[in-house]
Amino acid sequence: MQPEVKDIAKIELHGHLEGCIYPQLVRRIAKRNDISLKADLFTSEDTFAWNNFVEFLGAYDEASFCLRSGQDYEEITYEYLKQSAAEGVIYLETFISPDHAKDVGIGYEDMLQGCVRAIDRAEAEFGIVGRLIISCVRHLGPERALKVAELAVQNPHPYVVGFGMGGNEMMFTQADFAPAFDLAHQAGLGCTTHAGEIVGPESVWDAIDNLPVTRIGHGVRSVEDPQLMGVLKERGIALEVCPGSNLALEVFPDWASHPLNRILDAGIRVSLNADDPPFFATTTGKEYQNAIDHFGLLSEQLRAISRMAVEDAFADEQTKLRLLSRIG
Ligand SMILES: [Zn+2]
Repeated sequence: MQPEVKDIAKIELHGHLEGCIYPQLVRRIAKRNDISLKADLFTSEDTFAWNNFVEFLGAYDEASFCLRSGQDYEEITYEYLKQSAAEGVIYLETFISPDHAKDVGIGYEDMLQGCVRAIDRAEAEFGIVGRLIISCVRHLGPERALKVAELAVQNPHPYVVGFGMGGNEMMFTQADFAPAFDLAHQAGLGCTTHAGEIVGPESVWDAIDNLPVTRIGHGVRSVEDPQLMGVLKERGIALEVCPGSNLALEVFPDWASHPLNRILDAGIRVSLNADDPPFFATTTGKEYQNAIDHFGLLSEQLRAISRMAVEDAFADEQTKLRLLSRIG
C-alpha cells in the first residue's frame, strides 16, 4: 500500500519567494498596482511561458516586476505559506532578493517587514514556521552581491537566518562572491549557493572550496564526480534537491535518470524542494509524492529526509527541536 504523503511533515529549504507567485496572484497584484503585464508572459493554459533557462529567468523577473510595496511582499509570502501548510509543510526557508525589490523601488526594510508580517500571521493561523534567506543574484555580479550581504548584516532580524545566491550559473565564479558570503557567515547567517545544476561538478567544487556554505542549491550534477560525492558526504554538506525543477529545466531528461537515489545511497544529506512551484508545475507536496511514485521511497525514508532537512536548516536550535518533535 502506498504511504499517505499528506500525513508526512514536510520541510522545504529551497524555494524562491519571487518564483512562487501564481499567475492569478501576479494578475491581482499587477491590477492593484496599475501595471500592464507583457502579453506573452502566460500561456493559453495560464502558466508562465518560457522555453529555456534564460527565458525562465526572464519570466521570473517579469512576474516579480508587478510588486510595488511591502504589502505585496506580505501577500505573496502569506499565500506561499498558506499553500505550503495545506500540504503538510511545517517549516520553510524562502530566498528573497532585495535586488528584485530595489528594481521596483521597494526598500529593504519595507520588503522585510512585509515578509515578517506574513510569517507571523501564517504561523498563528496554520502552524507553519517560515524563515528567510537573503539572496543575491549571480548575474548581477559580486559588487551588487556584497551590497545585498551588507543589507542583511546591517539589518539583523530573527527571521533572517541565511544568505544565498541564485541566478545564471554561467556568469562569474563562486569564488568571486567570497567577500559577500564571508561577511554574511561572520555575522552568523547560514550560507547556501546554487551550483551543480546548469553547470557540472566543477561549480560545486568552486562553491565548497571558496565559500562558507553548509548547503548547496541543487548540486545534483555532483554525481558526475565520485570524488566530489565522497567529499560532500565527509563534510556533511547537504544538497537541496528539486527533482521537478530539474526535469522542467531538462537538467535530466526523465525520472529514471534523475540521481536522487544515487545521492541518498552515497550517504549525502538531502532535502526535497519545489524551487519555483508555478513555473515548474510542482509543489513540495508533489515532490514528496514523486519521491514515492518515481524513486520508490517509503514514508519512513521521507520522514528521515524531513528530519535531515531540519538538522540542515538555518533556524535556531530551539526551533529545530520543536520541528523535530512534530515530524515523529
Ligand atoms: Zn533555486
